[in-house]
Amino acid sequence: MKNNDSIRSFLAGINGRDYGAYQSLIGEYDFGDFRLIIERIPKDPYAPSFTGLYRAVFNKSYTYIPPGLGENPLRVTAFGDFMIRRFFRESEAYSFIRGTGNSGLITVDKPGQAILERNSFLVRDDTLELRFFVGLPAEGRLINAKLAELMILEEVPRIMKKAFFRENIEPEACLNHLNTALRSEFLRSSLEEKNLVAFIADGSILPRTGGDSDEPVESRCAVPFSSPESLAENISLPDGTAVRGMAVPRGITLITGGGYHGKSTLLKALAAGVYNHIPGDGREMAVSLRSALKIRSYSGRPVAKVNISPFIDHLPGGIRTDAFSTQNASGSTSQAAALMEGLEAGAEVLLMDEDTCATNFMIRDRLMQELVAKEDEPITPFIDRVDQLYQDNGVSTILVLGGSGDYFSHSTTVIQMKDYLPLDVTGRAGELVRTFPSPRRMEGNDTHITPTMRIPLAGSVDPLNHYGKKSVFVREVRRINMGRTVIDLTDLEQLEELSQTKAITEAILFLKDKLNGEKTIQELLAVVEKQIERAGLDGLSSLLSGNLAGFRMIELAGAINRLRTLKIQ
Ligand code: ADP
Ligand code: MG
Repeated sequence: MKNNDSIRSFLAGINGRDYGAYQSLIGEYDFGDFRLIIERIPKDPYAPSFTGLYRAVFNKSYTYIPPGLGENPLRVTAFGDFMIRRFFRESEAYSFIRGTGNSGLITVDKPGQAILERNSFLVRDDTLELRFFVGLPAEGRLINAKLAELMILEEVPRIMKKAFFRENIEPEACLNHLNTALRSEFLRSSLEEKNLVAFIADGSILPRTGGDSDEPVESRCAVPFSSPESLAENISLPDGTAVRGMAVPRGITLITGGGYHGKSTLLKALAAGVYNHIPGDGREMAVSLRSALKIRSYSGRPVAKVNISPFIDHLPGGIRTDAFSTQNASGSTSQAAALMEGLEAGAEVLLMDEDTCATNFMIRDRLMQELVAKEDEPITPFIDRVDQLYQDNGVSTILVLGGSGDYFSHSTTVIQMKDYLPLDVTGRAGELVRTFPSPRRMEGNDTHITPTMRIPLAGSVDPLNHYGKKSVFVREVRRINMGRTVIDLTDLEQLEELSQTKAITEAILFLKDKLNGEKTIQELLAVVEKQIERAGLDGLSSLLSGNLAGFRMIELAGAINRLRTLKIQ
């Protein structure tokens, strides 16, 4: 194997030449402490940073390995997540633009607040592998070899050492990262046996700094979560301690209260509770069932042969709703479609927020029932289906609604948010229902709420652009450019990271040739799940990368459902 001297002499020979000459650096080098594999170098200093892919492979003995690492896949995931964050932090001091385009960058795929499987750090039997990005430096389009030498031969080894060398890692920090993930997972697995859908520990910090940020507000600005006594549960942890918090039971939970009192913040925490969060996030012990799905209305989205008839029937013009298709859904049809697609993909808990719901999908009050006859209203509002959804389908609902008491009589639990704290007002809401019986008429019927298990056809995924060339890219968390079309994921609110969207994109491409008119969406999801189990996130693509993160199959289904080219048998 070549050593780093060969990099030095090679670089000396190409100073000032065209950027393309860097290509010959691609190869494997012995750096003593680790093996550096220069996997890919872009031909242009302006290429996206992740196209300059480097791999550092090193022995486990070089670093700190927590005891029992291999015992469970979650430990491995959490360890990789911990390590990649260390490299990210240490690289920040060195990663800045020093020349044209991305010249000077040394970085990794930036992790968010969730502990996720990542293909930027891999744990093998004897070795570990880091995948990182380097922007080799240029002035204009010409090679700056002196700086390249500094970056590859000095800075990279220095960051490696600071991030990973055994003596630089505090075992407590590493163990804390692992234990935080294990504890979340334990709490989540306790939900099932206790008949709960969610649990939020006292002391949790739920509010985030901004709409586009997932980081916690400073703790002095936040009211820590505290469960009302009647909803509190103590869950014993494997380490012998117990944690108190609010238990959300199966059934129908209404979160109500005045505007700006923290309703949406609570619901968002429940939506984020499908992930395990890093120490310091504030939501380390706020967990929901893994299949909890936040749904909303999003007009303009496409829908492909979804059975929305339980909610929307006899549309004007005789449009079919048992296999409803459109390129431009309305508020109510988009929400009905999201709900039915969610059931199809296995959602067991639905989360909805009045802020993003279509009002006519949620409720039809007495006066409206009088004015607009039932036969002139295609929509059966959610309020008349919510009980059935729970009783027949076993699907729980958590609903934020501050504007209508008509839901009281359908709710198992009513929580009022007051000054950012939850109160249990279930009893009081029940009394009110008895004192002021709702004048509205039930409009539901007994037809079962059955999602169709749809079968996508070949040709549903088309990665070719107008010139017939493959063109697929992802630059935003909620947007995939796929050939001639865009997959708009705005309403998949539980996607957290760009790397998840990238992995979902790879999964869609992986499935492209498996859409043969035989497998249902559920079966296709299972194919992807198996592939990841067998070969990791790398198994989704033939091109090696270092910026894929774990995702739920329900979000993959969500992305497939938002393909404008989706064709269903
Ligand atoms: P609602 O949905 O009831 O109208 P939001 O959940 O949107 O209210 O919260 C309103 C504001 O209060 C937001 O800016 C949010 O970040 C903040 N907030 C929510 N919960 C807390 C809390 N526990 N402590 C401090 N601020 C909070
Ligand atoms: Mg709100």
